[in-house]
Amino acid sequence: MSKNSFFAEVNKMFDRAALHTNHSQGLLSQIKECNSVYHMSFPLVRDNGEIEVIHAYRAEHSQHMQPTKGGIRYALSVNADEVMALAALMSYKCAIVDVPYGGAKGGICIDRRNYSQSELERITRRYTFELAKKNFIGPGVDVPAPDYGTTSAEMSWIYDTYRSITDNPLDALACVTGKPVGDGGVRGRTEATGRGVFFGIREACNIEADMHALGLNRGIEGKRVIVQGLGNVGYHTALYLEQAGAVIVGIAEYDGGIYNANGLSLEKVVNHRKETQSILDFPGSTNIQNSFLTLEMDCDILVPAALENQIHSENVSRIQAKIVAEAANGPITSAADQALIKQGVMVIPDVYLNAGGVTVSYFEWLRNLSHVRHGRISRRREAHNALKILETVEDLVDKKFDPIKLADIDSGRGFGASEAELVESGLEDTMVGAYHEIHAHASSHKVDLRTGAFISAINKIAQGYSRGGIFP
Ligand code: GLU
Repeated sequence: MSKNSFFAEVNKMFDRAALHTNHSQGLLSQIKECNSVYHMSFPLVRDNGEIEVIHAYRAEHSQHMQPTKGGIRYALSVNADEVMALAALMSYKCAIVDVPYGGAKGGICIDRRNYSQSELERITRRYTFELAKKNFIGPGVDVPAPDYGTTSAEMSWIYDTYRSITDNPLDALACVTGKPVGDGGVRGRTEATGRGVFFGIREACNIEADMHALGLNRGIEGKRVIVQGLGNVGYHTALYLEQAGAVIVGIAEYDGGIYNANGLSLEKVVNHRKETQSILDFPGSTNIQNSFLTLEMDCDILVPAALENQIHSENVSRIQAKIVAEAANGPITSAADQALIKQGVMVIPDVYLNAGGVTVSYFEWLRNLSHVRHGRISRRREAHNALKILETVEDLVDKKFDPIKLADIDSGRGFGASEAELVESGLEDTMVGAYHEIHAHASSHKVDLRTGAFISAINKIAQGYSRGGIFP
């Protein structure tokens, strides 16, 4: 593997944290290694009748927990090194948020904008078939999900293809997550990664001492934010930050960026993009022709939410943000990461911050395996319990509540958690708990948050190896 490989970059971050653990070299090497990589190629008959060879990959990094889990991306950057690095990040990510999976990642080396809907369907179905043939997919084996360049539509095709060839149709729905709601998906999965990124940033900004050290006030309110990438993750992160009172001052997309120190209305930018196919020329904002220069503009929080290697040795010294919140996977090279620490910037690391996606994938997988919507069995019971409490209060205070309101509660309307509410609270609880865990590791070892996060991951994976007889 070349020195500058993405996988090598992830391993450098791992090694830095491993120094703060006391596991044997052998075990650390096993945790770091990528267990299997499958590179396949197959023909696509294009709509015009021509044949094109498609290159696709799936890497399974660690089976210390099974199934393995991780998204599938459609991007021209996809190669063996990239999927190995991203699969490794998935192992660490799942460990950090206590989601019981090993890490995996897949990808197809295409720019989806160059293919018709039916071509994308043929590519996705063939890819699934190739994975199934080699036992690289299955509810207890390896479970894909959306990633850069894929959506719930691809997940539906994956499920449908898998279902048609599996011997175990009962659990087939759990072979992939990120499916559309109504087609086995769980409510809240689409926005989950961005929602999780928001919770992570909120937790970080709520610690007074940390904000003070950065010269910032506590809380989200009034913080100036630049988001790189207005895809699913970038959009939802910006949306929740804006709703919490942050000011979106800059947005970067592949064709350029826009900046307005007084703030941009996210909704208006999205509408403008719908009308013109670009965020550029948004009224009242300045165009930044070179998309990358947007990252260097003045702000408090920079959210890279696109691809890897966006902040590197060449541009790191020009980054003005005080907090870099890694919504994307691997947006900062390990050298740039070290430079940012020296510059006094707080980096909230990807392995923690974008774990909301896989957390809600886990809820979807559980729903699929249990064949019941979250909350279906308990919702009415919760309403009855609420009613009982109110009746006890009535007795205590010797007063009667409005019977119409009580009947309403008893009917379950507005009481008892819905699936969306359960998913949201499970996600919030996970992100808040994990933040304080990695923060505690960082504080006790006097290291940055990324190293704290990796220490947490390494210790948990090492425990996974020592449990369940993985070593014969
Ligand atoms: N692709 C997402 C990630 O990088 C989600 C993976 C999943 O849900 O399995 O975390």
